Amino acid sequence: MFLGHFGAGFGAKAVVRKVSLGTLLLSAQFIDLLWPTLLLLGVEQVRIVPGATTVTPLLFEHYPVSHSLMAVLVWSFALGTVHFLMRRDRKAAIVIGLLVLSHWLLDAIVHQPDLPLYPGSPDKMGLNLWSSLPATLAVEVPLFVIGIWLYARTTKPTDNSGKWGLWTLVAFLSVLYAGNLFGPPPPSVVAIAWAGQLQWLLVIWGYWLDRHRSVSART
Ligand SMILES: [Zn+2]
Repeated sequence: MFLGHFGAGFGAKAVVRKVSLGTLLLSAQFIDLLWPTLLLLGVEQVRIVPGATTVTPLLFEHYPVSHSLMAVLVWSFALGTVHFLMRRDRKAAIVIGLLVLSHWLLDAIVHQPDLPLYPGSPDKMGLNLWSSLPATLAVEVPLFVIGIWLYARTTKPTDNSGKWGLWTLVAFLSVLYAGNLFGPPPPSVVAIAWAGQLQWLLVIWGYWLDRHRSVSART
């Protein structure tokens, strides 16, 4: 899942209007932001097997620190707590924790049964929507569109950067997603990891964009 996580991050702005889009995207995508570093450190493993699923050529062999449910609950609590200590906003902290957790739940819809419940767990979760491209798109695209729509109606641009920065980000994410779906499989695991690290730029984009938009009056 890719666009759906971003949809969750964008959409959360309607609930916690004071929290920057950057923080929301960081939370919704947190475990996928962690994963490339763990791959580079050799702590987690993925294999490229063209045809592994209809949608992605990646076989997620081992990713207990970023993607086991137990670890995600810890990350969820950790991010919520850090935010609470910084901002003393209980509601925002809860939403941030839930966003971190939402990543695992959304992944569990599309992944093959490869998501462990806890490190070393023999039981793995995954409803394998990735066996069908139309079914995957039917979940991801509406989540993304609804999230963008909520963000766009909750905030309004204060200048041209705020206006075009949003639509360029939306276009950029869509192109990235299409590239993943229809492009050639990644050449190596190291290439996957470095491409994954570039996602931090999307978080920075979120912080930048949010400074060029203000929360509109409640409708
Ligand atoms: Zn993930």
